[in-house]
Amino acid sequence: MKLDAPIKAGEVALVGAGPGDACLLTLAAAKLIGDCDVIVYDALVSEDVLNMAAVGSDLIEAGKRGGRPSAKQHDICETLIDLAKAGKRVVRLKGGDPFVFGRGGEEMRALAAATIRFRVIPGITAGVAAPAMAGIPVTDRSVNATLAFLTGHEASEKSRMDWKALTQAFPVLVFYMGAKNLPQIANRLLEAGLAQQTSLAIIHAATLDDENTIISTLEKAARGEITAHSPSIVIIGDVVNERISWKD
Ligand code: SAH
Repeated sequence: MKLDAPIKAGEVALVGAGPGDACLLTLAAAKLIGDCDVIVYDALVSEDVLNMAAVGSDLIEAGKRGGRPSAKQHDICETLIDLAKAGKRVVRLKGGDPFVFGRGGEEMRALAAATIRFRVIPGITAGVAAPAMAGIPVTDRSVNATLAFLTGHEASEKSRMDWKALTQAFPVLVFYMGAKNLPQIANRLLEAGLAQQTSLAIIHAATLDDENTIISTLEKAARGEITAHSPSIVIIGDVVNERISWKD
């Protein structure tokens, strides 16, 4: 199957919208966004990308920030199924990559269970794009042979993660949704044995107009000295020291 073949009536394309700037869409994403009946998009999808929709296609926001995720997720799946059953050509547009902390898996399973035809178009995930914009290589031969992608929610009180094992296995940690819990994340990592002076970068709104990078240390983050805004990627480890801020 050609990934960029026209969507059929009654089909859903789960499409990654990348980090924000529309020029980072895949060719397939750009084509399908411009040729469908309805786009169901998340809050993080940029205006730039939505502007690529064809005149006349319906845009439905399915954002669920600050809401009750589980209840709303069920509604989103129902919406996708209903639209497909009504014979629409549907694009389900998600920030970054649909399968990286994007609940794309749940939507895929719901579509499959309802015997709806679907396809998946990967996107550039923020955990790679944001460090790149800041000039930080997520792997560097001199620093790391592994890296971990995590959600910042893991640092909450209910954390079941073995932080010591994590820091021993992964010299570089990339946190999604880490802005709010930044002090907790930093404290967990210090408790797990990372050095106070370990470098970290917080990249806010990567590829968008208000993109902004803060370079700091675990110690300062743990003390609550850094104000981080959502959406931000937090990257921790010595790759941050390899940074060249090429945009300047
Ligand atoms: N599926 C998405 C991630 C969704 S989770 C992906 O693959 O990128 C939402 C988190 O993604 C945000 O809290 C933030 O950590 C990150 N994020 C998304 N877009 C971003 C951007 N433009 N700049 C920085 N972080 C971003």
